[in-house]
Amino acid sequence: MRACCGSNVVRSLGRFLACGVLAFAAVALEGVLTVKIKTIIPVCKVNSVAHRLARAGIATTSSQAGNRESALGAVIDIHTHVVPARLAADPKRDPRWPSIEHSTGDQASVMIAGKVFRRIDTRSWDVQRRLADMVEDGTDMQVLSPMPELLSHWLPPDDAEYLAAAMNDQIAGMIAQAPRNFAGIGMVCMQDVVCAVRQLEKIKALGFAGIEIGTHINGVALGSESLFPVYEVAQSLDLGIFVHPLHPSGMERVGSNAEFAATAVFPLETALASVSLLAAGVPERFPRLRILLSHGGGALTWILPRMDFGWWLGAKGKMTRTPSELARQFWYDTILYDPVSLSFLGNAVGESRIVVGSDYPYTIRQKQPGAFAKRALRSDAVLADNSFGFLGRHYDVATLQATEVPGKSEAGPSHG
Ligand SMILES: [Zn+2]
Repeated sequence: MRACCGSNVVRSLGRFLACGVLAFAAVALEGVLTVKIKTIIPVCKVNSVAHRLARAGIATTSSQAGNRESALGAVIDIHTHVVPARLAADPKRDPRWPSIEHSTGDQASVMIAGKVFRRIDTRSWDVQRRLADMVEDGTDMQVLSPMPELLSHWLPPDDAEYLAAAMNDQIAGMIAQAPRNFAGIGMVCMQDVVCAVRQLEKIKALGFAGIEIGTHINGVALGSESLFPVYEVAQSLDLGIFVHPLHPSGMERVGSNAEFAATAVFPLETALASVSLLAAGVPERFPRLRILLSHGGGALTWILPRMDFGWWLGAKGKMTRTPSELARQFWYDTILYDPVSLSFLGNAVGESRIVVGSDYPYTIRQKQPGAFAKRALRSDAVLADNSFGFLGRHYDVATLQATEVPGKSEAGPSHG
């Protein structure tokens, strides 16, 4: 099957598109928008794409026409979050066991310790809603990862293992509904390294690109040697690690202003975790381990020159190279909101290490993340190629486009 393509296509589209023909599928949305799915896929798989989308409740049509530029411009949003559609309360588990309570309409709540932790809606698990939003965002593939609080590094290991399995099953189920539009980053019970290593095998078997972990494991710094077995196995299995701020330190320094946790304290927390990894020599000890830092690495970029200065003075930890040089081994997402800041990050760590992210579906998300990244970095590689670098392989992405359905727009309400 892979010998079927012309050499020009192969040369132009590189490893990701090493064999294929162009196909279209038009997906009607809300009677006004049409999602046109253009993908370069082996010809024998064209029908199965339409079948899977149809099973997801999305009408499709197909065509053999297309152009390679659109596929090359696919946008991969590597930082999006998922909550299981169902997660029952269980009084036999730890009091901090999370559960999902559904209310009216599309609303639900993540409950922890009997209280509402976060109000959410069906976008947290509904594939069709996500696909519709991806069209508006100009995103073609979302990499699904757990809502950070659900990483639950504070639960007893057996509860954490069960929760990780449920979370990973949720992500796998969503990917199965649109495998050319979703990829996965799962979770493991990091508070028990033996359990975590065992679950990494499952992560690999599910076809996920890696795992998400907090910026500390219930107080254990990411540079702790106790976590090295996880890094070792992740590296050997070619799995990446997505570091997300969680229960940040320093909240007492901003007084009672809890609303600043995600905006002001998360970036500081990510920088602390990054320093822990650098000082422990993790990038050098695990040179093939791919580590992605959330929110553009937080404040790390700003402190690297100061750390370099200190390194030359002797503040080296286990680093045999300067911190700024080692920081180029990490990946960074684009959730910085400001193009000047993103450009600064690109200059500091190298644009090839920057991947598109949004924090979908939360209010704080960066909208149109691909357009933002491309505008700030003047780079096409940031849209997908860099993401393939972190994900460890090239994905067969079905690109999504919105087009108006003739005659429909007059009859319906105006959409912005
Ligand atoms: Zn996030």
